[in-house]
Amino acid sequence: MKAIAVKIGQKGSFLVNVEPPKGPVGNQVLLKTLYTGVCGTDRGIINGLLNFAKAESGKEILILGHEGLAQVMDVGDNVRSLRPGDLVVPMVRRPGKCIQCGVGRQDNCEDGDFVEAGIRGKDGFMREYFIDDEQYLVKVKDNNLGKLAVLTEPLKNLVKAYDVYQTVSDRYLKMCSDGSYECKKVTVIGAGPIGILFSMLFSTHGFQVRLISRSDKEGVATSICKKIGADFTQADAIKLNPEEMVSDVFVDTTGRPEVIGKGLQALKYNGVEILFGTTLAGNYSITGALVTEAVEKNVTIIGTVDGAKQHYIEALNYLSMWKETYGNSLELMITDEDVPENSIEALNGDGKGEIKRIVRWS
Ligand SMILES: [Zn+2]
Repeated sequence: MKAIAVKIGQKGSFLVNVEPPKGPVGNQVLLKTLYTGVCGTDRGIINGLLNFAKAESGKEILILGHEGLAQVMDVGDNVRSLRPGDLVVPMVRRPGKCIQCGVGRQDNCEDGDFVEAGIRGKDGFMREYFIDDEQYLVKVKDNNLGKLAVLTEPLKNLVKAYDVYQTVSDRYLKMCSDGSYECKKVTVIGAGPIGILFSMLFSTHGFQVRLISRSDKEGVATSICKKIGADFTQADAIKLNPEEMVSDVFVDTTGRPEVIGKGLQALKYNGVEILFGTTLAGNYSITGALVTEAVEKNVTIIGTVDGAKQHYIEALNYLSMWKETYGNSLELMITDEDVPENSIEALNGDGKGEIKRIVRWS
């Protein structure tokens, strides 16, 4: 059967023929892949930029794909919650042995001794069929979602980030005088899928959202912001004055150090900066004046990665709600879709001109 893989240490992804999985036993589920999403992490692995990318032990190649949507084909004798025909989103990170991993919070792993499908130490979902354990499969209850359910995996990271934001904000009276968030300003930088989904998430909770991005591919950010009642500004955030971006919450999805520095200056008292993007490029000097400002303003900086099973479940609920409320807005984000054979060239390219690319497996 077909799979898309990389050889660690070698640039470029390729189509490869691999052995199909054998029938499921015990808690195992046999799955047919329907869609996989492509994100910056995949391109980082393909271009050899992620030093933590790793094949399964004893294997030469790593099958890519950590954003998946699959259909149950067959189940082992001990599987109780899934039946053939069900749609599922497979979880990415699988627990190691630390105390966090032991309670299903491998997203907060303390020692890095976990594996991640399609990223480090475990084959991913860019293959026609795979076997997985019931406990790592999140059931899609809303069949109307269709391929949009492939956005569950990226969105669950943001649901966790929102969760962390709420937790750190419990240190002060975090709501407006009317008990809502409607006086709170959120600035989101970057109009990729993550920036757009962050905007939708905060907007859904009543915050005033402004999305700032250097580009607006196919006018999708403008269109979605209009739908959700957010503002969109096409600009390079590092060229804006902090006074122009005054915020209670500043969300960076670009990973550019200069943007993050600007964000700290743009925060109000008790402000929170959420760091989500990563990049190895760029530099920003932290000055004594900036440190003093951060201290005096009670600023919190949150770095956050991955999410727990609960966040996948909540992400699916948001997607259902948004599909209902905002019509085809989510579909607009999926700008590119193709079969595996025709996806390799684009996977090996720079992704410019795409918002979200997905691969259709069946
Ligand atoms: Zn752990």
